[in-house]
Amino acid sequence: MIDLHTHTTASDGTLSPTELVQAAVQANLEALAITDHDTFSGYDEAVPHALGAGLDLVCGIEMSVKLRGRSVHLLGYFVDGGTPAGFRKWISTLLESREERNRRLVEALQAQGFKISMEEVRQRAASLAGRPHFAALLVEKGYAANLQHAFDAYLGEGSACYVPRDEPGFADAVHRITSAGGIASIAHPGRISRDSKAMESCLCEMRGLGLQAIEVWHSDHSPLEMQFYEALAARLSLGVTGGSDFHGANKPGITLGKGRDGRLNVPRSVLDRLRALANGR
Ligand code: AMP
Ligand code: FE
Ligand code: FE
Ligand code: ZN
Repeated sequence: MIDLHTHTTASDGTLSPTELVQAAVQANLEALAITDHDTFSGYDEAVPHALGAGLDLVCGIEMSVKLRGRSVHLLGYFVDGGTPAGFRKWISTLLESREERNRRLVEALQAQGFKISMEEVRQRAASLAGRPHFAALLVEKGYAANLQHAFDAYLGEGSACYVPRDEPGFADAVHRITSAGGIASIAHPGRISRDSKAMESCLCEMRGLGLQAIEVWHSDHSPLEMQFYEALAARLSLGVTGGSDFHGANKPGITLGKGRDGRLNVPRSVLDRLRALANGR
């Protein structure tokens, strides 16, 4: 079993990179990709620990990108080889847009009458603050019943205080990932649309823009959806990836490797094929 989608305290997970490596070893994972939002710092920190523990650690990243005015999540793998310096520099500019969004989000929540400050949000984040940290704060202060309620009512797209971020375009991000020697996979496509016809045409469009793989296995996908995406990837000649989207306590109910309700079991061969795809160019 492998897990190609996880978060550490470097973004919005609750396990440190070292703890996540330990958890992966304990869970007997054959490989682990760290895919923090907009940063490689968790991966970088985990590298020596994974080496020491004999764990196959994959360099990954998850980015929010714009496609037809909507925000979708893109996973980038293997951007540690080749000439990644330019890519990493570009990633650091994305962090600035996140800071700006966070400042505006605090203002929007204050305008809603909530007594919260940027300082309190930062205290909850080890480094990079994301909306899950805002959600935790809203719950702690009694403004939301639970994390999901905080997103549904105040933080999620289309909710009361939603603040859009200045995000890179889909094609631009895919191009930068692949130019750095990486593979771009669309994260949890089930969140984009649950209509199979619309989904297929959307994936065709993404493939036309350079997308190479689909995240078939994910905690938010039902068994039927996973079958659907696996068949669709084969039909569209796209690669496949899969992972739990483990965030520790920030996404309760998701187990490393196994996802929600133990439904996931991504085989090692998925990573082997992904590496072959990356090396085949
Ligand atoms: P950010 O990158 O700061 O915009 O936060 C994005 C993260 O917030 C995602 O990775 C999810 O963990 C979480 N998130 C975003 N939208 C929702 C939602 N509607 N419900 C629950 N969690 C969400
Ligand atoms: Fe997240
Ligand atoms: Fe995501
Ligand atoms: Zn994720």
